[in-house]
Amino acid sequence: MSKRDYYEVLGVAQDASGPELKKAYRKVAMKHHPDRNEGNKDSEEKFKEASEAYEVLSDQQKRGAYDQYGHAGVDGQAGMGGGGEGFGNFSDVFGDVFGDIFGGSGGRGGRGGVARGSDLRYTLDLSLEDAVRGTTVKIRVPTLVGCGTCGGNGAKPGSSPITCNTCGGHGQVRMQQGFFSVQQTCPTCRGKGQSISDPCNSCHGQGRVEETKTLSVKVPAGVDTGDRIRLAGEGEAGAEGGPSGDLYVQMSVKDHEIFQRDGKNLYCEVPISMFDACLGGEIEVPTLDGRVKLKVPAETQTGKLFRLRGKGVSPIRGGTAGDLLCRVILETPVNLSGKQKDLLEELRTSFQGKKHSPKQHGWFDGMKSFFGDMKM
Ligand SMILES: [Zn+2]
Ligand SMILES: [Zn+2]
Repeated sequence: MSKRDYYEVLGVAQDASGPELKKAYRKVAMKHHPDRNEGNKDSEEKFKEASEAYEVLSDQQKRGAYDQYGHAGVDGQAGMGGGGEGFGNFSDVFGDVFGDIFGGSGGRGGRGGVARGSDLRYTLDLSLEDAVRGTTVKIRVPTLVGCGTCGGNGAKPGSSPITCNTCGGHGQVRMQQGFFSVQQTCPTCRGKGQSISDPCNSCHGQGRVEETKTLSVKVPAGVDTGDRIRLAGEGEAGAEGGPSGDLYVQMSVKDHEIFQRDGKNLYCEVPISMFDACLGGEIEVPTLDGRVKLKVPAETQTGKLFRLRGKGVSPIRGGTAGDLLCRVILETPVNLSGKQKDLLEELRTSFQGKKHSPKQHGWFDGMKSFFGDMKM
C-alpha cells in the first residue's frame, strides 16, 4: 500500500510556507488528536499521518529530500524517532504547536523513541539582601547523568547496540489491518530501533547513572519568592542517550529580621522616643544600603508612616525602584528614677484639656455616643 503524498495529507500547496504548514497541521492534528478521539483508529491513523507529514515538511533538509525523491528520500527518518536528534525536533514542534492547548510541552513523550529525562526542581533559599542585589550561588543537585563508561548508549564498552531485528532499526512496524497498512511503534525495541545484547556494567544498560551535580546559578537582582530560573538541559539525563530534562530553580526568600517585603516595597518599624515625637528630631532608620537619617516633625503620632523613595527593591525587569516605608512606634520610657517620675507627674498636671490629646478626646466622644448619653 503506497503512502499518501505529504502535501495532500496536510491539504497544502507544494510551495506552502512554514506558517501555512503549521496552520494546516494544527487543524488536522487538533481534529484527530488522540486525547480527543480515544479508541478511534481512523483518527489515530490520520493524526500519525499528519504528524509524520509535518515533521518532514517543516524540516528544510527533509522537505528538500522529499521533494526530490518522494517518500524514498525520507523513509526511515520520519516518525522513526530513532536518533536523539530527530526526536528532539519532533518534541519541539509538538510543544510549539500544542503548547497552548494541551498545557505545555515538556512532559509529552511523543511516540516511542528515546525518552527525555525528567525535569527537576530545586528550592533555593535566599536572604533578602541576596534576592534584592542578586548573587551567584553554587548548588548541589542529586540527578541522573549520562553514563561515562558507555557514553550513554547502555552497551558494554567494546560492544554496541545492535539494530532491532523486528523493525530493522526503523522503530516502527507496519501491520496490515484490512485494506490499510498501519504503522505502529515496534513492540520489541519500543521505538528505539536498537537493542542491547551486552548491557554496560556501570549503568546496567540504562545509559545514565546517579550523580550529585554542582551547578553555579546566577540569581538576578530583584527576584522574589515564587520566581524560578530554568536551566535548560540540567535536569535528569534521558534513558539510553535520550535528551536531558530541565532544572527549575525555585526562589524562596527568607524572612528578614528588620524588613518585610511586599513586591518592590519594603516595610520596617522604627522605635521613636516620646521626646523626638513631641519636639521633633532626627532619627536613624535602616535601609538595605545602610543607615540613613530621617527628620521627624514635632508632634508626630505613633504609627505614622514615613516613605523613603527609591530605598525599596529594583524590579527584576527594570523600572523604578520601590520605596522603604518606615513606621515609627512611640516607645514608653522605662526604669524611671524618682526624680524623673516627679518631673513627669509635674508634666502630667500641666497637660490638662482637650488641646494636648486630640485623638484621646475624639475617642471618648465616640464611645459616649456609642453607649448613649452616659456620663463618662
Ligand atoms: Zn553505561
Ligand atoms: Zn524494533
